[in-house]
Amino acid sequence: AVPLVVARSTSLAAKNGLLIKNRTEFENSRKITTIVFDKTGTLTVGKFEVSKIVSLQKDIGENEIIRLSSALEQKSEHPIATGILQKAKDLSLVIPATENFNAITGKGVEATVEGKEILVVSPGYLKEKNIAIPDGFKANDTETVVFVIVNNVLIGYISLSDEIRPESAEAIATLKKENIKSILLTGDNNKVAKSVSETLGMDSFIAEVLPDQKLEKIKELQKKGEYVAMTGDGVNDAPALAQADVGIAVGSGSDIAAETAGIVLVNSNPKDIVSLILFGKATHRKMI
Ligand code: ADP
Ligand code: MG
Repeated sequence: AVPLVVARSTSLAAKNGLLIKNRTEFENSRKITTIVFDKTGTLTVGKFEVSKIVSLQKDIGENEIIRLSSALEQKSEHPIATGILQKAKDLSLVIPATENFNAITGKGVEATVEGKEILVVSPGYLKEKNIAIPDGFKANDTETVVFVIVNNVLIGYISLSDEIRPESAEAIATLKKENIKSILLTGDNNKVAKSVSETLGMDSFIAEVLPDQKLEKIKELQKKGEYVAMTGDGVNDAPALAQADVGIAVGSGSDIAAETAGIVLVNSNPKDIVSLILFGKATHRKMI
């Protein structure tokens, strides 16, 4: 039988936007010393809007950059894809068909469109392939950037902006008061990660990480003796969520993340994580 205090705390949890899937993980939440947060959709709203389109080729216009990239993004479920598709819609563009679509995990997407090989990728991908970042390229600190490559030629880039959730700063501040460290872990670029982490007063950030590296980062923290909670939403976050001592899936994310995690944040609100920890502590006190 479920002890009464636990049953009561579970219904309290539900009122606070928490779905407890694994009781042990819920009870262990009082031991958390570090929370690793993903960025998009947890600390930020997760709604990307195209803020700038830059062409690097004289004969290619901004609309063409959006038209080609939206052809690939119609196959992707990433929030970046949603932002680019919205822009194509706003511009009333006819989106061409896509063949041979492939998601390059944590880096972008590639496909054939109108017989051309197209890539929409992260700054990290350019570095990795030794493709020069164009002169005059200045990413605003708070913006996510994707580059568009057509038949091996860099034709331009798209800047997208997301917003920090109004509740995030208070959630991080409360965790700090409870002596819990917060770390930002993201596949997005360094500048964006630094800006979000500093704005929220987080302890540190790790940027441009690939999904399989997320798992390794959790293990590293555990080896240092940290009791680690992690939040995540993507299919790719599932291994790291499973590795974390307390896995917290963000409600708006993928089903696989929700299946793997012990706890689901129904409203994707970071403040509910604070409730989780405080409940965990209160429940434990009542049980002993
Ligand atoms: P996170 O979940 O931390 O935001 P991801 O692994 O989902 O990180 O993505 C990392 C980076 O890979 C993005 O910031 C972007 O540059 C690139 N990327 C991923 N998916 C797409 C996509 N569908 N279109 C363009 N770029 C993408
Ligand atoms: Mg993600």
